[in-house]
Amino acid sequence: MAFKKTEQIWFDGAFVPWEQGNVHLLTHTLHYGLGVFEGIRCYRCDDGRSAVFRLPEHIARLYRSAKILEMEIPYPAAQLESVVIETLRVNKMAEGYIRPLVFLGDGAMGLLPSDNPVRVAVIAWPWGAYLGEEGLERGIRAKISSYTRHHPNVSMTKSKTCGQYVNSILAKREVTRMGYDEALMLDTQGMVAEASGENVFMVRDGVLKTPPLTSILEGITRDCVIRLAREKGIEVVETPITRDELYGADEVFFTGTAAEVTPVREVDDRTIGSGARGPLTKTLQSAFFDAVHGRTSKHESWLSFL
Ligand code: PMP
Repeated sequence: MAFKKTEQIWFDGAFVPWEQGNVHLLTHTLHYGLGVFEGIRCYRCDDGRSAVFRLPEHIARLYRSAKILEMEIPYPAAQLESVVIETLRVNKMAEGYIRPLVFLGDGAMGLLPSDNPVRVAVIAWPWGAYLGEEGLERGIRAKISSYTRHHPNVSMTKSKTCGQYVNSILAKREVTRMGYDEALMLDTQGMVAEASGENVFMVRDGVLKTPPLTSILEGITRDCVIRLAREKGIEVVETPITRDELYGADEVFFTGTAAEVTPVREVDDRTIGSGARGPLTKTLQSAFFDAVHGRTSKHESWLSFL
């Protein structure tokens, strides 16, 4: 998806013009994929202010991702939280997407990069609905990819690791080439894991189900949806889900910072429910958008105002 460039990038401790956000070709992460990142959104609230959604949770996950990969981020978490806010301010962005990236710079090559610097960048740009505005309303068509999601002992899925996304890209390319909108992946046991960049939920007889965290990313939108559902008295179960259980679901939807809450109207050519956004999906999607736009005082703790 094309992006619109902004003016400044925070890079290793200072703001630099967009054009100077460059690295050397021997940047270690470029070769071997050991790096971590986050995807965060800032929304304009109904009262005219702007707020970053669940900023401390995203930064905390960035540090957990780095810890899993034994990378030490050379800044305190509180500083990176401020940097995210500053990056939006200096670029005069009232809303948009923010990408913190932690990577190994150039120095030694090979697989034991002892002294390569851990470099940190925060980049922000405007980004609309990841799976399309129409997708948010009408739902999208998903297909289970022939690529399996990583096993935790192959490539630890709790870390938002740069190299992990090779698997996601292969899956997404495979199914979009066939005309579908998004790829779902099964884990090594054959159970439903997650989509290429989203967590997955299903509804059956009023109960909301989602796969446990075993081999998936611990999605922050997933956490929001679980909390919002429980607040509304909806039963939520984290349980392994089979592909045929999805086919027979009343509703299916994906959650992610980029994709927000996107209904799925078809899985593997089976129409889900009535083939449109389901009622529970609509309720939770509205509750999610109310929270991000600051319409519910109850969820104001999820907002970091600019
Ligand atoms: N799974 C994967 C593989 C992802 O890339 C993402 C996006 N970060 C998610 C799930 C959803 O996570 P979140 O809601 O925190 O964006």
